Amino acid sequence: MPLTAYDLTGRTAFVTGAASGIGRASAVLLATAGATVHCADLDAPGLDETARAIKNTGGTAHTHALDVTDLEQLHEAVASCERLDVMAAVAGIMHSSPVLETREEDLDRVLNVNFKGVLYACQEAARLMLARHIRGSIVTMASGAVDTGGPGLLCYGAAKAAVVQLTKTLATEVGRHGIRVNAVAPGWIRTPMTDRSDTEAQAHTESLMARMSPLGRVGEPEDVAQAVLYLASDASSFTTGQILRPNGGVAMP
Ligand code: NAD
Repeated sequence: MPLTAYDLTGRTAFVTGAASGIGRASAVLLATAGATVHCADLDAPGLDETARAIKNTGGTAHTHALDVTDLEQLHEAVASCERLDVMAAVAGIMHSSPVLETREEDLDRVLNVNFKGVLYACQEAARLMLARHIRGSIVTMASGAVDTGGPGLLCYGAAKAAVVQLTKTLATEVGRHGIRVNAVAPGWIRTPMTDRSDTEAQAHTESLMARMSPLGRVGEPEDVAQAVLYLASDASSFTTGQILRPNGGVAMP
């Protein structure tokens, strides 16, 4: 397989959650690989910053300020793309509460953003790819939380487990049209999501996470973006329905 398999020149990618962290790093890397990137997020100023970063590297970016739980907004944004080769459904939120203190509204909010938001993005992308006979790649964002339980992770883990099920199911349904669907399940990554305002607590968490990894460091958004690029590109042409785990080798039970 030539290295050009990573070349996305002439392709169009749509990235949700592109205003921050993993979504931003993925959008920038996909653009660096040559794709025109549509960046979507709730956070309009954050989107502008991502678009600036893409343009600074000579890439092409379009921005869509939207809520991924709003099907109409998502439909309009995806339909505005001239073509669509890659969907990276990255947008998500963190939530932690013990099972016995979890309220219906917590469950609804987390499932809405972390599962329904990904489902809608996958549906919109797959419909467009099918209609235009594009052999595209869909990448969803799961989490290491699907491999292990953990205190407080009920809503977040349930939504991410649903994302894995969506990924495997959709992969079987659209594979014969040449559309691939894979999930990325990162370990602990240094982003605004994992940023604790208390610097001492943050340093403690980071040192703990680094010690758990055989590589002796925590993950950065760019580490996950590399996994997204691999799955988005022809380098992974025979890979579908899989979960790729950029987690620094942290052992999962
Ligand atoms: P982040 O908070 O830096 O970025 C998340 C982005 O999603 C933000 O820009 C936010 O505005 C956007 N977003 C949230 N709700 C939205 C909505 N309803 N509509 C549109 N955009 C919305 O977090 P991150 O760490 O970069 O996380 C990105 C993804 O990676 C998430 O799905 C997260 O669950 C997953 N993840 C993160 C880690 C980690 O350790 N950081 C680990 C595993 C999985």
